[in-house]
Amino acid sequence: AHLDRISATDGQVKAFLHVDAEGALAAAQAVDERRKAGEALGPLAGVPLAMKDVVVTKGVPTTSGSKILQGWVPPYDATVTRKVREAGIVMLGKTNMDEFAMGSSTENSAYFPTSNPWDLSRVPGGSSGGSSAAVAALQAPLSIGTDTGGSIRQPAAVTGIVGHKPTYGAVSRFGLIAFSSSLDQAGPFGRTVLDTALLHEVIAGYDECDSTSIPTPGPDVVSAARLGAQGDLSGVRVGVVRELTGAGGGYQDGVLASFRSAVDTLASLGAEIVEVSCPNFDYALAAYYLIAPSECSSNLARFDSVRYGLRVGDDGTRSLEEVMSLTREAGFGPEVKRRIMIGTYALSSGYYDAYYGQAQKVRTLIARDFADAFTAADVLVSPTSPFVAFGIGERVADPMAMYVNDLCTLPASLAGIPAMSVPSGLSDETGPALPVGLQIMAPAMADDRCYRVGAAFE
Ligand code: GLN
Repeated sequence: AHLDRISATDGQVKAFLHVDAEGALAAAQAVDERRKAGEALGPLAGVPLAMKDVVVTKGVPTTSGSKILQGWVPPYDATVTRKVREAGIVMLGKTNMDEFAMGSSTENSAYFPTSNPWDLSRVPGGSSGGSSAAVAALQAPLSIGTDTGGSIRQPAAVTGIVGHKPTYGAVSRFGLIAFSSSLDQAGPFGRTVLDTALLHEVIAGYDECDSTSIPTPGPDVVSAARLGAQGDLSGVRVGVVRELTGAGGGYQDGVLASFRSAVDTLASLGAEIVEVSCPNFDYALAAYYLIAPSECSSNLARFDSVRYGLRVGDDGTRSLEEVMSLTREAGFGPEVKRRIMIGTYALSSGYYDAYYGQAQKVRTLIARDFADAFTAADVLVSPTSPFVAFGIGERVADPMAMYVNDLCTLPASLAGIPAMSVPSGLSDETGPALPVGLQIMAPAMADDRCYRVGAAFE
């Protein structure tokens, strides 16, 4: 049924870069056989899922949205992929994304933009826009995204679904094509908080293949979602972050109205609402757009025309350096090149302290702001994004207009803490009624709090 739904709708939505119908049917059959053989299967066995194309999948093409990896078929599975397969989840295919996960609209895909199912002329957010659109278009009940600075939460918000960025280190990065290694984290999308929790439970856990994987077991997010669904938040302190409520402008009125009513709803469920201030959040955007490009410039050095994918100009007359240079020129898109240049500059010996070093200090200050705020509150809330889905083409020519999408999501990324987006209503401020998201942040390894509060709220 889901493959039929994809056939019927993906000509318009364009969520998928690759549909693996044969693999999906074989996986479904295998689950059936395991069931018939009397094997005890998990709750998601046989449930279809869409996988972001940044996650490596053995035998299934993986491009990370880039021409430089066009035609590459990985010889191994990412840990996330392996866990999904072992749980009997049926992978339908690979979803579109901004090239190497750099962007907030999926327009930086080297292949084509994806449409928001709520209004096909608008973006589905990014960089995991194929994964959010697939769930919102009912092509798959679940999907996997990755979030470096907001790429799960913002697409979830603008397509009206649930998305969770786990605590950094809670989900293995082994087999995620690296963008910014100190920030990258894979996580689940679903239509409800409980669905999302069930997928979270499958993918989380220690992995010796990832040196930043957390060795202690994570919290029981499924029980937390079930507890939350009872709708009682008495005793839970919810902090409203003053710096993320639009005082400096730039937030749409419809988003702020939805946020205020979400806070009222949380209060009506018994939560105690407190205001907290995190003054260093004002510098999160500047710090992120130094740290992420710096790490990307280093990570993307591996695309050297020798080991993977594209190779241009290798006709026996050119040096290795010329072939590398021609390949990288042809294989990377403009946003990726911009970030490689910014990052290489920020890491260069004369500027390292002034840019990269300074950004790392700001990162520490942001983590301290969170630590202080979490003495007064159990979770922190804000809008997920300052605006609803915008038109395809509207912001793509202006990098700064694109980067401000991440205003609310970047602090949690820099601090490595978990954060969820849950639908908080609709805003018709820019035309049709479009979804708005509520962001719920919690301390590291307290992902269960996001699930409890999210499930109570939805
Ligand atoms: N929009 C942010 C960026 O362009 C975040 C992307 C992400 O989380 N992968 O870097």
